[in-house]
Amino acid sequence: MSHLVAIVGRPNVGKSTLFNRLTQTRGAIVSEESGTTRDRQYGKVTWLDREFSIVDTGGWVVGSEDVFEGEINKQVEIAMEEADVILFVVDIEGGTTDLDDEVASKLRRTKKPVLLVANKADNYTQHYAAAEFYAFGLGDPMPISAVNGSGTGDLLDAIVSHLPEGEAEDEPLDAPRIAIVGRPNAGKSSLINAFIGEERNIVTNIAGTTRDSIYTHYSKFGMNFYLVDTAGIRKKGKVNEDLEYYSVLRSIRAIENADVCVLMLDATRGIESQDLNIFSLIQKNSKGLIVCVNKWDLVEEKSNTVIKTFERAIRERLAPFTDFPIIFISALTKQRIFKVLEEVQQVYERRSKRIPTHQLNEVMLPIIEATPPPATKGKYIKIKYVMQLPTAVPSFAFFANLPQWVKEPYKRFLENQIRAHWDFSGTPINIFIREK
Ligand code: GDP
Ligand code: GDP
Repeated sequence: MSHLVAIVGRPNVGKSTLFNRLTQTRGAIVSEESGTTRDRQYGKVTWLDREFSIVDTGGWVVGSEDVFEGEINKQVEIAMEEADVILFVVDIEGGTTDLDDEVASKLRRTKKPVLLVANKADNYTQHYAAAEFYAFGLGDPMPISAVNGSGTGDLLDAIVSHLPEGEAEDEPLDAPRIAIVGRPNAGKSSLINAFIGEERNIVTNIAGTTRDSIYTHYSKFGMNFYLVDTAGIRKKGKVNEDLEYYSVLRSIRAIENADVCVLMLDATRGIESQDLNIFSLIQKNSKGLIVCVNKWDLVEEKSNTVIKTFERAIRERLAPFTDFPIIFISALTKQRIFKVLEEVQQVYERRSKRIPTHQLNEVMLPIIEATPPPATKGKYIKIKYVMQLPTAVPSFAFFANLPQWVKEPYKRFLENQIRAHWDFSGTPINIFIREK
C-alpha cells in the first residue's frame, strides 16, 4: 500500500519550493503525460528502497494571507487525518508568527509523526536560528534549504524512517480493486450502498492494522471485487467537504491502491476543476477508468442526442485521453448499477491484455509504412518492429533507427491506431520508442 506525506505551513515559508525539491531529487514521476500545472501539488518520491506520495496541501489554498488564515485549521486537520507523516514547514528568516503557533498547537495533538522543517537555512550560520522553533514542542527542528538542497537528504531519511512498515497482505484474489472517486455529493456513498447494501456481503477484510483497512472483498452479482477505502468515503469529515483539496486528498490514497477507478460525475452539474483534478490523479497513476454520470434519474430528456452531447462534452474536457467507458446511472434507483461492475471487470481484463507480437506487427507495420513519422532535418525515421512489454500497464515498444526524432504527436497517432484495432477502452497505454 502506498504512503502519503503532507506538507503544511503558512504561505511563503517555502512549501512549494520544498515540494519541487523533494519530487525532483529522486523523483520517480509516474506518468509521461504532458505536464499540467494543476498537478504540481502532488508527486511521488523514491528514497532508498521506499516510495511515498507527497502533497503540498498549501497548493490548493488560493488567495491572500487573510483568506488563508481561515483555511489553515482545515488544511492541517486534513493532513492529520490523511497523511502518514506531516512536514510542518517554518521559515528561519522570517521567524515565528502567530499563524505558526496556531498550526503548532494543532499538530501537538496528533499521534502521527510530525517533522519540524526549518526552511531557508541556506548556510550553516543560520542553523542556530532554528533553535527558536523548539518552543513549538514538536521536537528537534531540522534546518534545511529548499532552494539549495542542503539538509534535504537528512529530511528524506527522517521521512522514510517514520513511514509505517508495509503490511502483510493476504494473497489477493485475481479480482479488480475498485476506487469510487468524485467530488462531494456526486453520489459515491450511494453507489457503494447500491452495490453492497448494508454490508452484509462482506466476505473478508484483508488483514489491516489499527488503521482503516484499505480493501474490502465482496462477492456480489456473481463477481468478486475489492472496494478500496470505503471507510474513508463513508466517514464524513468534520471539515467542509466542498473544499477542493479535501476531496482530492481523500481520493489520492484510494486511487493509488486501485486497479480501476470509477469517477462519479453529477449529471446535474458540469465538469468542474475538482473533477479534473481527480481525473488527472487517475491518469498520473495509470489506473483504469470508468466515468459514471450519476443522478441520471434527475435528467428529464434522455434522448440519444442528449446522451451523445453529454458524452462528447465529457471527452472534450478530459482529452487527450478519451478512450474510456461512460455509463449513465442512478445510484438512487440502481439503474445500470450492474453494468458498472461488469464494465469494471472488463477494464480490469483489458489492462492485462497481451497482443501477440506477430499480430501487432502484421497490423501496425503497414500503417506505419503508409504514414511514417515525419522526416526531421532531412533524416528519415524507420520503425522496424513493435512489441508489447511485460508490464502491468499496457506498454508498447516501437524500435526505430532514430528514436529521439519521434515526437509526441506521432506517438499519439500510434496509440490511437492500437486503440482502433484492439479494445483498450478504459486503460491507459504507454508508447515507447526504442533504439533498434
Ligand atoms: P509557499 O507559499 O510556502 O509554497 O512558499 P514558496 O515555495 O512559494 O516560497 C516562498 C518564497 O521563499 C519564494 O520566494 C522562495 O524562493 C523562497 N524560498 C523557498 N525556499 C527557500 C530557501 O530554502 N531559502 C531561501 N533563501 N528562500 C527560499
Ligand atoms: P457522496 O458525497 O459522493 O458520497 O454522495 P452521497 O452518496 O452522499 O449523495 C449525495 C446526495 O445525492 C444524497 O442526498 C443522495 O441521496 C443524492 N444522490 C446520490 N445518488 C443519486 C441519484 O442517482 N439520483 C438522485 N436523484 N440523487 C442521488
